[in-house]
Amino acid sequence: MSEKHVKVVEEVFDEYQSAKRKHGEYTLDGSACTDINRLAALTEELGEVARCMTYDKEHSKNLKHELIQVANLAITWASIL
Ligand SMILES: [Mg+2]
Repeated sequence: MSEKHVKVVEEVFDEYQSAKRKHGEYTLDGSACTDINRLAALTEELGEVARCMTYDKEHSKNLKHELIQVANLAITWASIL
């Protein structure tokens, strides 16, 4: 794993902590979250990645952050399986 990978993993962990503060038990590893909630959240974030790819590029500056959010949700969901 390269230093760039380590930096991104740290950003994913920061995103997890931020989401936990914001959503509490509704984060993907929270007791209030169902699998339907998890799928909806992950799909929503993946849609935001796709939005960064639209022709107008208005949102393209957010691509890295959106990918970090997708990674956080996928890792968080996987962590409880
Ligand atoms: Mg997002």
